[in-house]
Amino acid sequence: MSSSFRINDTDIALGEHKKVDIQVSRLPSGTPINIKVFVWRSKKPGPTMLVSGGVHGDEINGVEIVRRSIANGLFKNLNCGSVIAVPLLNVYGFINFSRDVPDGKDVNRSFPGFSTGSLASRVAYVMSQQILPLIDFGLDFHTGGQSHYNYPQIRYSQGDAEATKLAEQFGGLCLIEKKAFKSTMRHHALEAGKPILVYEGGENLRLDQFSIEEGLAGMKRVLKAKGMANSFVPDAENTLRFIGTKWLRSPRAGIFRWIVSSGHKVEKGQKIGVINDPYGQEESEVLANKTGFIIGHNNSPVVSQGDALFHIAW
Ligand SMILES: [Zn+2]
Repeated sequence: MSSSFRINDTDIALGEHKKVDIQVSRLPSGTPINIKVFVWRSKKPGPTMLVSGGVHGDEINGVEIVRRSIANGLFKNLNCGSVIAVPLLNVYGFINFSRDVPDGKDVNRSFPGFSTGSLASRVAYVMSQQILPLIDFGLDFHTGGQSHYNYPQIRYSQGDAEATKLAEQFGGLCLIEKKAFKSTMRHHALEAGKPILVYEGGENLRLDQFSIEEGLAGMKRVLKAKGMANSFVPDAENTLRFIGTKWLRSPRAGIFRWIVSSGHKVEKGQKIGVINDPYGQEESEVLANKTGFIIGHNNSPVVSQGDALFHIAW
Protein backbone atom coordinates (compact mmCIF):
# COMPACT_ATOMS: atom_id res chain seq x y z
CA MET A 1 0.00 0.00 0.00
CA SER A 2 2.53 2.61 1.14
CA SER A 3 5.32 3.33 -1.33
CA SER A 4 8.10 2.63 1.17
CA PHE A 5 8.36 -0.10 3.76
CA ARG A 6 10.51 0.27 6.82
CA ILE A 7 11.38 -2.85 8.80
CA ASN A 8 13.90 -2.57 11.63
CA ASP A 9 15.45 0.61 10.15
CA THR A 10 15.74 -0.90 6.67
CA ASP A 11 13.84 0.83 3.90
CA ILE A 12 12.46 -1.31 1.11
CA ALA A 13 11.21 0.57 -1.93
CA LEU A 14 8.97 -0.62 -4.76
CA GLY A 15 10.87 -2.99 -7.04
CA GLU A 16 13.30 -4.09 -4.31
CA HIS A 17 13.99 -7.43 -2.64
CA LYS A 18 15.66 -7.39 0.77
CA LYS A 19 16.34 -9.63 3.73
CA VAL A 20 16.08 -8.05 7.17
CA ASP A 21 17.32 -9.57 10.44
CA ILE A 22 15.45 -8.59 13.59
CA GLN A 23 17.26 -9.53 16.77
CA VAL A 24 14.89 -10.62 19.54
CA SER A 25 17.38 -11.49 22.25
CA ARG A 26 20.29 -13.83 22.95
CA LEU A 27 20.54 -17.42 24.10
CA PRO A 28 22.07 -17.86 27.57
CA SER A 29 25.27 -18.77 25.69
CA GLY A 30 25.35 -15.32 24.10
CA THR A 31 24.31 -16.43 20.63
CA PRO A 32 22.01 -13.79 19.13
CA ILE A 33 18.54 -14.95 18.05
CA ASN A 34 17.32 -13.25 14.89
CA ILE A 35 13.98 -13.43 13.14
CA LYS A 36 14.65 -13.36 9.40
CA VAL A 37 12.25 -11.42 7.23
CA PHE A 38 12.28 -11.61 3.42
CA VAL A 39 10.56 -8.95 1.36
CA TRP A 40 9.81 -8.82 -2.35
CA ARG A 41 8.20 -5.74 -3.83
CA SER A 42 6.93 -5.31 -7.36
CA LYS A 43 7.45 -1.96 -9.07
CA LYS A 44 3.67 -1.87 -9.45
CA PRO A 45 1.76 -1.14 -6.24
CA GLY A 46 -0.73 -3.71 -5.01
CA PRO A 47 -1.67 -5.73 -1.95
CA THR A 48 0.88 -6.91 0.61
CA MET A 49 0.71 -10.55 1.66
CA LEU A 50 2.35 -12.08 4.73
CA VAL A 51 3.39 -15.73 4.64
CA SER A 52 4.59 -17.03 7.99
CA GLY A 53 5.68 -20.34 9.48
CA GLY A 54 7.02 -21.62 12.76
CA VAL A 55 4.88 -19.48 15.05
CA HIS A 56 4.91 -22.79 16.90
CA GLY A 57 8.54 -23.92 16.70
CA ASP A 58 7.93 -27.65 16.25
CA GLU A 59 5.37 -27.28 13.44
CA ILE A 60 7.82 -27.96 10.67
CA ASN A 61 5.42 -28.45 7.75
CA GLY A 62 4.53 -24.77 8.07
CA VAL A 63 8.20 -23.76 8.05
CA GLU A 64 8.83 -26.05 5.08
CA ILE A 65 5.93 -24.61 3.06
CA VAL A 66 7.32 -21.08 3.42
CA ARG A 67 10.90 -22.30 2.84
CA ARG A 68 9.89 -23.98 -0.42
CA SER A 69 7.95 -20.95 -1.59
CA ILE A 70 11.16 -18.92 -1.23
CA ALA A 71 13.48 -21.60 -2.64
CA ASN A 72 11.17 -22.08 -5.65
CA GLY A 73 11.24 -18.35 -6.38
CA LEU A 74 7.48 -17.92 -6.03
CA PHE A 75 7.75 -14.23 -5.19
CA LYS A 76 10.32 -13.17 -7.76
CA ASN A 77 8.79 -11.10 -10.54
CA LEU A 78 5.49 -10.30 -8.83
CA ASN A 79 2.98 -8.68 -11.19
CA CYS A 80 2.08 -6.20 -8.47
CA GLY A 81 2.13 -5.78 -4.70
CA SER A 82 4.51 -7.16 -2.11
CA VAL A 83 5.19 -10.34 -0.18
CA ILE A 84 6.69 -10.46 3.30
CA ALA A 85 7.88 -13.95 4.28
CA VAL A 86 8.77 -14.96 7.83
CA PRO A 87 9.59 -18.67 7.50
CA LEU A 88 10.44 -19.20 11.17
CA LEU A 89 9.02 -16.87 13.80
CA ASN A 90 9.67 -18.93 16.93
CA VAL A 91 13.38 -19.71 16.53
CA TYR A 92 13.56 -20.82 20.19
CA GLY A 93 10.95 -23.54 19.74
CA PHE A 94 12.57 -24.68 16.49
CA ILE A 95 15.98 -25.34 18.05
CA ASN A 96 14.40 -26.93 21.15
CA PHE A 97 11.89 -29.12 19.18
CA SER A 98 9.14 -27.32 21.09
CA ARG A 99 5.89 -25.56 20.26
CA ASP A 100 6.69 -22.83 22.77
CA VAL A 101 9.58 -20.63 23.88
CA PRO A 102 11.88 -21.89 26.70
CA ASP A 103 9.73 -20.48 29.52
CA GLY A 104 6.79 -22.58 28.25
CA LYS A 105 4.72 -19.69 26.90
CA ASP A 106 2.95 -19.86 23.55
CA VAL A 107 3.84 -17.10 21.05
CA ASN A 108 0.42 -17.52 19.47
CA ARG A 109 -1.31 -16.67 22.76
CA SER A 110 0.88 -13.62 23.38
CA PHE A 111 -0.26 -11.11 20.74
CA PRO A 112 0.18 -8.19 20.41
CA GLY A 113 2.99 -8.57 22.95
CA PHE A 114 5.26 -6.10 24.73
CA SER A 115 8.85 -5.00 24.18
CA THR A 116 9.52 -5.58 27.88
CA GLY A 117 7.35 -8.71 28.27
CA SER A 118 8.22 -12.40 28.53
CA LEU A 119 10.09 -14.01 25.66
CA ALA A 120 6.90 -15.17 23.86
CA SER A 121 5.50 -11.67 24.23
CA ARG A 122 8.68 -10.15 22.74
CA VAL A 123 8.56 -12.47 19.73
CA ALA A 124 4.89 -11.58 19.16
CA TYR A 125 5.77 -7.91 19.54
CA VAL A 126 8.25 -8.07 16.65
CA MET A 127 5.50 -9.40 14.42
CA SER A 128 2.78 -7.03 15.59
CA GLN A 129 4.98 -3.91 15.50
CA GLN A 130 7.23 -4.44 12.50
CA ILE A 131 5.29 -6.66 10.11
CA LEU A 132 1.52 -6.64 10.63
CA PRO A 133 1.13 -2.86 10.08
CA LEU A 134 2.54 -3.34 6.55
CA ILE A 135 0.31 -6.16 5.37
CA ASP A 136 -3.18 -6.36 3.90
CA PHE A 137 -3.71 -10.07 4.55
CA GLY A 138 -1.73 -13.15 5.54
CA LEU A 139 -1.32 -16.89 5.37
CA ASP A 140 0.01 -18.41 8.59
CA PHE A 141 1.21 -21.99 8.12
CA HIS A 142 0.92 -24.39 11.05
CA THR A 143 1.11 -28.16 11.59
CA GLY A 144 -0.78 -30.50 13.92
CA GLY A 145 0.34 -31.26 17.45
CA GLN A 146 2.39 -33.96 19.09
CA SER A 147 1.04 -37.27 17.73
CA HIS A 148 -1.92 -35.34 16.33
CA TYR A 149 -2.30 -35.39 12.59
CA ASN A 150 -4.29 -32.62 10.96
CA TYR A 151 -5.83 -33.21 7.54
CA PRO A 152 -4.84 -30.18 5.38
CA GLN A 153 -7.29 -27.45 6.39
CA ILE A 154 -7.82 -23.71 6.50
CA ARG A 155 -9.25 -21.94 9.53
CA TYR A 156 -10.75 -18.55 8.86
CA SER A 157 -12.56 -16.03 10.99
CA GLN A 158 -16.29 -16.43 11.42
CA GLY A 159 -18.47 -13.73 9.95
CA ASP A 160 -15.65 -11.78 8.32
CA ALA A 161 -16.34 -11.25 4.62
CA GLU A 162 -12.70 -10.59 3.71
CA ALA A 163 -11.46 -13.67 5.54
CA THR A 164 -14.17 -15.77 3.88
CA LYS A 165 -13.17 -14.50 0.44
CA LEU A 166 -9.49 -15.19 1.15
CA ALA A 167 -10.32 -18.73 2.31
CA GLU A 168 -12.25 -19.33 -0.92
CA GLN A 169 -9.31 -18.04 -2.94
CA PHE A 170 -6.98 -20.41 -1.07
CA GLY A 171 -9.40 -23.29 -1.73
CA GLY A 172 -7.92 -26.65 -0.90
CA LEU A 173 -9.52 -29.60 0.80
CA CYS A 174 -11.25 -28.15 3.87
CA LEU A 175 -12.32 -24.69 4.94
CA ILE A 176 -13.35 -24.36 8.57
CA GLU A 177 -15.09 -21.27 9.86
CA LYS A 178 -13.73 -20.84 13.35
CA LYS A 179 -13.48 -17.94 15.74
CA ALA A 180 -9.86 -17.13 16.57
CA PHE A 181 -8.74 -17.43 20.18
CA LYS A 182 -7.91 -14.15 21.86
CA SER A 183 -4.24 -13.15 21.79
CA THR A 184 -3.54 -15.15 18.63
CA MET A 185 -1.94 -13.47 15.64
CA ARG A 186 -5.12 -14.12 13.60
CA HIS A 187 -7.30 -12.45 16.24
CA HIS A 188 -4.99 -9.46 16.66
CA ALA A 189 -4.72 -8.87 12.90
CA LEU A 190 -8.48 -9.16 12.44
CA GLU A 191 -9.01 -6.35 14.94
CA ALA A 192 -6.96 -4.18 12.57
CA GLY A 193 -9.14 -5.35 9.67
CA LYS A 194 -6.51 -7.68 8.23
CA PRO A 195 -7.63 -11.24 7.52
CA ILE A 196 -5.13 -14.00 8.23
CA LEU A 197 -5.83 -17.60 7.31
CA VAL A 198 -4.40 -20.31 9.54
CA TYR A 199 -3.36 -23.37 7.58
CA GLU A 200 -2.95 -26.69 9.39
CA GLY A 201 -1.46 -29.87 7.93
CA GLY A 202 0.27 -32.99 9.22
CA GLU A 203 1.80 -33.59 12.64
CA ASN A 204 4.59 -31.88 14.59
CA LEU A 205 8.25 -32.77 13.97
CA ARG A 206 7.31 -34.80 10.90
CA LEU A 207 7.41 -33.66 7.31
CA ASP A 208 4.25 -34.57 5.40
CA GLN A 209 4.59 -34.17 1.64
CA PHE A 210 0.80 -34.15 1.09
CA SER A 211 0.31 -31.27 3.57
CA ILE A 212 3.29 -29.33 2.21
CA GLU A 213 2.05 -29.58 -1.39
CA GLU A 214 -1.50 -28.63 -0.41
CA GLY A 215 -0.21 -25.57 1.44
CA LEU A 216 1.91 -24.45 -1.50
CA ALA A 217 -0.96 -24.97 -3.95
CA GLY A 218 -3.26 -22.80 -1.82
CA MET A 219 -0.61 -20.09 -1.58
CA LYS A 220 -0.26 -20.10 -5.39
CA ARG A 221 -4.04 -19.87 -5.85
CA VAL A 222 -4.11 -16.80 -3.57
CA LEU A 223 -1.25 -15.12 -5.49
CA LYS A 224 -3.16 -15.73 -8.72
CA ALA A 225 -6.54 -14.58 -7.35
CA LYS A 226 -4.98 -11.35 -6.06
CA GLY A 227 -3.36 -10.71 -9.46
CA MET A 228 0.08 -10.80 -7.83
CA ALA A 229 1.55 -13.72 -9.77
CA ASN A 230 0.64 -16.09 -12.58
CA SER A 231 0.62 -19.57 -11.22
CA PHE A 232 -0.08 -22.83 -12.94
CA VAL A 233 -1.80 -24.59 -10.11
CA PRO A 234 -5.18 -26.22 -10.77
CA ASP A 235 -8.26 -24.66 -9.23
CA ALA A 236 -9.41 -26.33 -6.02
CA GLU A 237 -12.13 -28.89 -6.60
CA ASN A 238 -14.69 -30.25 -4.16
CA THR A 239 -13.56 -28.04 -1.29
CA LEU A 240 -15.44 -29.06 1.86
CA ARG A 241 -16.74 -26.33 4.16
CA PHE A 242 -17.40 -26.78 7.83
CA ILE A 243 -18.95 -24.60 10.50
CA GLY A 244 -18.36 -26.73 13.59
CA THR A 245 -15.77 -29.14 14.96
CA LYS A 246 -15.61 -31.34 18.02
CA TRP A 247 -13.01 -33.64 19.58
CA LEU A 248 -13.96 -37.19 20.38
CA ARG A 249 -12.14 -38.10 23.61
CA SER A 250 -10.90 -41.46 24.72
CA PRO A 251 -13.41 -43.42 26.83
CA ARG A 252 -10.57 -45.31 28.55
CA ALA A 253 -6.79 -45.70 28.76
CA GLY A 254 -4.92 -48.31 26.75
CA ILE A 255 -3.41 -49.13 23.38
CA PHE A 256 -5.22 -47.14 20.69
CA ARG A 257 -5.61 -48.03 17.04
CA TRP A 258 -7.65 -45.96 14.65
CA ILE A 259 -9.67 -47.77 11.99
CA VAL A 260 -10.73 -44.65 10.11
CA SER A 261 -8.31 -41.73 9.85
CA SER A 262 -8.37 -38.11 8.75
CA GLY A 263 -9.90 -37.28 5.40
CA HIS A 264 -12.88 -39.63 5.67
CA LYS A 265 -16.60 -39.23 6.30
CA VAL A 266 -18.07 -40.99 9.31
CA GLU A 267 -21.58 -41.72 10.54
CA LYS A 268 -22.64 -41.29 14.13
CA GLY A 269 -22.23 -44.65 15.88
CA GLN A 270 -19.71 -45.98 13.34
CA LYS A 271 -16.79 -47.93 14.81
CA ILE A 272 -13.71 -45.83 14.02
CA GLY A 273 -11.13 -47.11 16.49
CA VAL A 274 -10.38 -49.63 19.24
CA ILE A 275 -8.62 -49.47 22.58
CA ASN A 276 -7.13 -52.56 24.21
CA ASP A 277 -5.54 -53.25 27.54
CA PRO A 278 -1.91 -54.39 27.08
CA TYR A 279 -2.66 -57.96 28.23
CA GLY A 280 -4.95 -59.35 25.54
CA GLN A 281 -7.97 -59.34 27.87
CA GLU A 282 -10.15 -56.39 26.97
CA GLU A 283 -11.16 -54.43 23.92
CA SER A 284 -13.31 -51.28 23.74
CA GLU A 285 -14.76 -49.82 20.59
CA VAL A 286 -14.46 -46.14 19.77
CA LEU A 287 -17.65 -44.98 18.07
CA ALA A 288 -18.13 -41.73 16.15
CA ASN A 289 -20.14 -39.35 18.34
CA LYS A 290 -21.22 -37.24 15.37
CA THR A 291 -21.87 -37.62 11.66
CA GLY A 292 -19.21 -35.64 9.87
CA PHE A 293 -15.69 -35.66 8.45
CA ILE A 294 -12.48 -36.50 10.30
CA ILE A 295 -10.13 -33.49 10.10
CA GLY A 296 -7.61 -34.76 12.68
CA HIS A 297 -6.69 -37.94 14.51
CA ASN A 298 -4.32 -39.15 17.21
CA ASN A 299 -1.36 -41.31 16.15
CA SER A 300 -0.20 -42.08 19.67
CA PRO A 301 -0.29 -45.84 20.35
CA VAL A 302 -0.85 -45.27 24.08
CA VAL A 303 -3.65 -43.05 25.34
CA SER A 304 -5.15 -42.00 28.65
CA GLN A 305 -8.82 -41.58 29.41
CA GLY A 306 -9.96 -38.23 28.02
CA ASP A 307 -7.22 -37.91 25.39
CA ALA A 308 -8.34 -36.34 22.12
CA LEU A 309 -8.65 -39.17 19.57
CA PHE A 310 -10.55 -37.77 16.58
CA HIS A 311 -11.41 -34.25 15.49
CA ILE A 312 -14.74 -34.39 13.65
CA ALA A 313 -16.10 -31.50 11.57
CA TRP A 314 -19.58 -30.94 10.15
ZN1 LIG B 1 0.39 -24.11 15.48
